[in-house]
Amino acid sequence: MKTICYIVAMVAEAKPFIDRYGIKKVDNFFSPLPCQLYEGEVEGTRLCVVLNGQMHGSDLVGCEAASVSTTAAIQRLDPDLIINSGTCGAFRKHGAEIAEVYIGNKAMFHDRRVPGDDNWQTQSIGNYNVWPGSETLAHSLGMKMGKVTTGSSLDMQPCDLEVIETNGGQLKDMEGAAVAFVCSLFSKPILLVKSVTDLCDSGAETYEEFSRNLSRACETLKAANERIIDYLTKSL
Ligand code: SAH
Repeated sequence: MKTICYIVAMVAEAKPFIDRYGIKKVDNFFSPLPCQLYEGEVEGTRLCVVLNGQMHGSDLVGCEAASVSTTAAIQRLDPDLIINSGTCGAFRKHGAEIAEVYIGNKAMFHDRRVPGDDNWQTQSIGNYNVWPGSETLAHSLGMKMGKVTTGSSLDMQPCDLEVIETNGGQLKDMEGAAVAFVCSLFSKPILLVKSVTDLCDSGAETYEEFSRNLSRACETLKAANERIIDYLTKSL
């Protein structure tokens, strides 16, 4: 692979990884868009990390910023593979644990309530495919796989849970399906790498659980990404 491009929402998620590879910020590359490019090289592969950027002093999490970043990244950097790396909620009932890293096997939306016929439902849910090599990668590195389910909120309403359960969602985030949607438009392969900060069925308050576990989940995310980069640069 010549170019691998990460799309990351939060500085906390990207920083351990950026520090590890010593990749450098390219000022104003996407200006006037808010996304930020960090660029470097690993084993002859160009490694790009695109952060969604910040506004009002906070990271631009969510689908809109992720779609903008992914569109700009694909058009300007022409990567061979997009990797959406970040944190997520997961479910204790599916055996998930805090700071465990999963590889996504599909991506869907869970909070797009659009009345209409089956075509509207199909479009709303999304159900985007991932890079076909994802399963072999997960198997080789001993990582679990799960379906990423994306919405615009950190909390989970009962109607969200119903859609998640009906459609087999396992890893709840705020960007995965948006990145996968843009990748599908450009026929770019996407790998989803998600580290668990909170368990949606733990009974705990999600923001409190997320905040408590964020740095630990970002460390395991960095470690997983090191193994993934190693795998991608050496075996492909
Ligand atoms: N106010 C928080 C903002 C984090 S939003 C803060 O102070 O840091 C949560 C981010 O983590 C999103 O980028 C999302 O993709 C991910 N995430 C982690 N757990 C999640 C969950 N249970 N539901 C939705 N997104 C989650």
